[in-house]
Amino acid sequence: HSAAVITIDGPGGSGKGTICRLLAQRLGWQLLDSGAIYRVLALAAMHHQIESDDEEALQPLAAHLDVQFSSDETGNMRITLEGENVTHTIRTQEVADIASKIASLPRVREALLRRQRAFAEEPGLVADGRDMGTVVFPQADVKIFLTATAEERARRRYLELKEKGFDVNIGDLLSEIQARDERDMNRATAPLKPAADAYMLDSTNKTIEQVLEEVLNYTGMKL
Ligand code: C5P
Repeated sequence: HSAAVITIDGPGGSGKGTICRLLAQRLGWQLLDSGAIYRVLALAAMHHQIESDDEEALQPLAAHLDVQFSSDETGNMRITLEGENVTHTIRTQEVADIASKIASLPRVREALLRRQRAFAEEPGLVADGRDMGTVVFPQADVKIFLTATAEERARRRYLELKEKGFDVNIGDLLSEIQARDERDMNRATAPLKPAADAYMLDSTNKTIEQVLEEVLNYTGMKL
């Protein structure tokens, strides 16, 4: 790829999604929400009643996944699976859990590589995920690893889900976050870990505005 790329990797709830969206908006760049691709794949597997460890069946499902990203009337991202709007249905904890199981399968990850790299278009790309700086875009111009404590991430997820009208328990969320971190960090293929040349940013006691400013400052120094 020749277009400029900024990667932001980190665990769920670190603020990556929000920061990537704001950064892409500010720069007028493309946005890749790679987690959404794994979530859409999880939903497709559920629809087809494919088990989350059935690599044989999941590999072709990933290779032919009919997922589309577009903007709705208000500029928000709209995600469709085979034409069906799944923007909100992919955000549940159940889908996240299945996504992280499926994401541990090497052939599934391989099948999604080209599709993810195709997002690197002019004038540039902001890529959000777990392995953007390590595997998908190792030549990225700017790499950031965004973290926050599991407790803080559970608190943020709780507020976010509650606002969307979901009935959730913060203790359950913390356990789910810890189980997902464990799986994402310890898998053999493309585990969640900072690239050697990543800028480490802990968002625990910072506002979104503060994190965005730090990211913009660092990006300004690198580009
Ligand atoms: O970021 P998000 O919570 O939407 O990601 C859902 C799951 O997809 C993660 O828990 C992770 O297992 C997987 N994922 C991944 N690699 C990425 C992005 C997401 O393995 N680049």
